[in-house]
Amino acid sequence: MLLDHFRVFAEKHGLPAESQFGRILPRVSAAAAGERPEARFRARPFTQAPASCSVAPAAAARIASIGMQAGRLGFEIEAGEPLAANGMAEELCRRARSRGLDLGIDARTGGFIFRAARPRPPAIGRHGTARKAAPPAPPLDRLLPMREVGRRVRRLADLPHLSAWQAGASWQGRGIWALEAVLAGGGGLVSLARARLLKPTLLMNARHHANEVSSTSAALRLAWELAATPWGREALKRVNVAIVPLENADGVATLEELLPGCADHKLHAARYNALGVEWYGDYFLEPPRFPEARVKPLLWRRWLPLLILDAHGVPSHEWDQPFSGYAPGRFRQFWIPRAFVYAIVPFIEEPSHAGHGPARQISRAMDRAISADRDIQKLDRELKDRYVRYARAWEPEVFPPTGGRGLTVLPSEKRLAGLNFGVQRFPVTVSEIVTEVTDEVVSGRLLELCARAHLTAAKALLEWLGRQAGGKLARRQIPHGGICLEWKAGKKYSGLRTEG
Ligand SMILES: [Zn+2]
Repeated sequence: MLLDHFRVFAEKHGLPAESQFGRILPRVSAAAAGERPEARFRARPFTQAPASCSVAPAAAARIASIGMQAGRLGFEIEAGEPLAANGMAEELCRRARSRGLDLGIDARTGGFIFRAARPRPPAIGRHGTARKAAPPAPPLDRLLPMREVGRRVRRLADLPHLSAWQAGASWQGRGIWALEAVLAGGGGLVSLARARLLKPTLLMNARHHANEVSSTSAALRLAWELAATPWGREALKRVNVAIVPLENADGVATLEELLPGCADHKLHAARYNALGVEWYGDYFLEPPRFPEARVKPLLWRRWLPLLILDAHGVPSHEWDQPFSGYAPGRFRQFWIPRAFVYAIVPFIEEPSHAGHGPARQISRAMDRAISADRDIQKLDRELKDRYVRYARAWEPEVFPPTGGRGLTVLPSEKRLAGLNFGVQRFPVTVSEIVTEVTDEVVSGRLLELCARAHLTAAKALLEWLGRQAGGKLARRQIPHGGICLEWKAGKKYSGLRTEG
């Protein structure tokens, strides 16, 4: 309703159609008898994105020398004239020190000096017997507060084959985590380049919309299963997995502010970011308007994933009632859920596209996995029947068909296709699948089923990825000395690439 209100407000005042109205927390309270309810908006123009949205000029800095200083590895880095002159050098040092990095300015050259930490003796039992107690499986049936998500991410990183790092920050400065599951070699070290080249990767992105709550639980459980179960260990022999468990940190902060007092509301006000803006269009902007839009593209560049899973949700309850004055026209087809779970798969209705074959295989794999879960099946059938009976049967032009008995698979909507990595980055990424479950601010048993549906789809995608032939590293002697290392793409994988 707010979105529509602002659209009308913008039209009335001649504002550009893309005008946004910031972080608005609607609170409803009963007015005293006889008083007219009123609302006041104070608008401030949004002029520029924070510095973190732009690429830092230091990206062009060069390492001038490397040496040992009192047992520590020291790097001399050229700062460049403009950087030293405009005070950005001090700012960069301050930011680096706040992250625990020893970075200073060399008074003699004006460049940076970075001193690495002293080497520590190898941690006994990091992958052996004296390891810390393994973290328990993250729960699926309860909404995890953001602080708990951070704690769990750090604990998960204690597991072998799993690492966690802060891949970015939100508009309001909250950290955004990445978890990476890669089979470590005997020494515990991982060569990212090698892992990326030799095995296909799944990138899972969770919680783009903060009120679609189940994907964070599914993402954490997936990370845990990969590192702590025999299934996960087996899967990691064939695939890598990168996970963003909570992408929209500012949106989740808004959600947590609104939740007390309206725990059964679907809280669309907490759907977008701190400025109330939908920002998936920013993934392909340089610079994006919001720093949170940097994380997913950063992980895409780091891993070049063959598949991406973007886990979303739709309302499950508190359906908008037509004729009640509360029926947002733009989301009419979401009046009641069309199914409990469905997947949006690009190219599924484009037989001539090179991505059509993989799209069909992926859809079948997810359908098989979801159909094997009887609880999910039961609820899915129930919601589909209800949808057909009360919505589709009456207004088929508004309510699109469901997918029959199995998993409902839909093509990407035209307006969203341009924002899909599977479409924009094909054939490096052959598909970005969106899973939808009825999870807008749900709890208990329903939350568990929603998270389980995302998790089941993710595991099915991993099984499919695991069947794709990995690359091979070929060694070749070069005449007159030397060795040439060459990566050769796997057969199915290379087939996909040439078709595109
Ligand atoms: Zn969503």
